[in-house]
Amino acid sequence: MTIDRRQFAGGLSALAAWSSVASMSIAQDKGREPLFVATWNFGLPACQQSLKTLEETGSILDAIEKGIHVAEADPKVDSVGVGGAPNSEGVVQLDACFMDGATHGAGSVAGLENYPHPISVARRVMEKTKHVLLVGNGAAEFAKSQGFQQQELLTPEQKDKWLAWKSKQPAPPPAAPPNHDTIALVGLNAAGHLAGGCSTSGLAYKMPGRVGDSPILGSGLYVDGDVGAAGATGIGENVMRYCASFLIVELMRSGLDPTAACRTAIERIAKHERKSPADLHINFLAIDKQGRWGAAGTDADYRIAVVRPSVAKLEKPFLVT
Ligand code: ASP
Repeated sequence: MTIDRRQFAGGLSALAAWSSVASMSIAQDKGREPLFVATWNFGLPACQQSLKTLEETGSILDAIEKGIHVAEADPKVDSVGVGGAPNSEGVVQLDACFMDGATHGAGSVAGLENYPHPISVARRVMEKTKHVLLVGNGAAEFAKSQGFQQQELLTPEQKDKWLAWKSKQPAPPPAAPPNHDTIALVGLNAAGHLAGGCSTSGLAYKMPGRVGDSPILGSGLYVDGDVGAAGATGIGENVMRYCASFLIVELMRSGLDPTAACRTAIERIAKHERKSPADLHINFLAIDKQGRWGAAGTDADYRIAVVRPSVAKLEKPFLVT
């Protein structure tokens, strides 16, 4: 699918300032070569696993799931899966969602305890139930019924950090979280099939039961098989009140390239919030059906991983200040 240039006409002047970013994204277009893009440095081995899985199985859904498994299984990734940060009571509660652009099917889990691969449980919600989102005990019961193995998610390192944090807290705990980060991973195969997933332990030391943007379709992740996919990381509350991933996909549908769409979403949110972007801590990535990728964020240390057969690299996204 090519972009209808007429759709751009109205927005061209507004886009002029972004032309270097947009043209960079367009120059990166390699047609229908498979493409995987994920948030943060730990997204790189995840995307590499996604490509490997795609080559082995031919399934874009397996590729997304197995790629995210890499971050979920790595205890050094302290914001996802095993070794993820606990809530304020010292309990690791995981959120994830999975979406298939071809069918518009989706599954999510929130507040899932003791299962190391919430992305797989989310995919199973999509495939085995008529529902979209399962939470808490219900999600855990479903995971058990599907034969998923339980595992202690709180590592000794995270327990020590939590105890140190807890010993310094006045009651009630402060709202400002000390740590967070989500893996959002989106992909496209050579046939143009789009899919995505995201997985997180959410904000470190969050209020028990707090659910962020990551398992909420349209907020932490959104995939439209005709247009593209977008994902988010950062302070979920600043993402989910704007359905930001949905917004980014819709901006791409109206003609913006992936970076411009991510940037426009951030600027719109900052304007509504009457805040400097730097105070929002929101970071996005997107790919479109043509195989272009882009990203923008408000955190200077935000990085994305980009993997296709000819490329495996980390990129510094457009910083919105
Ligand atoms: N968005 C996640 C949440 O709010 C955290 C993050 O990505 O940093 O739960």
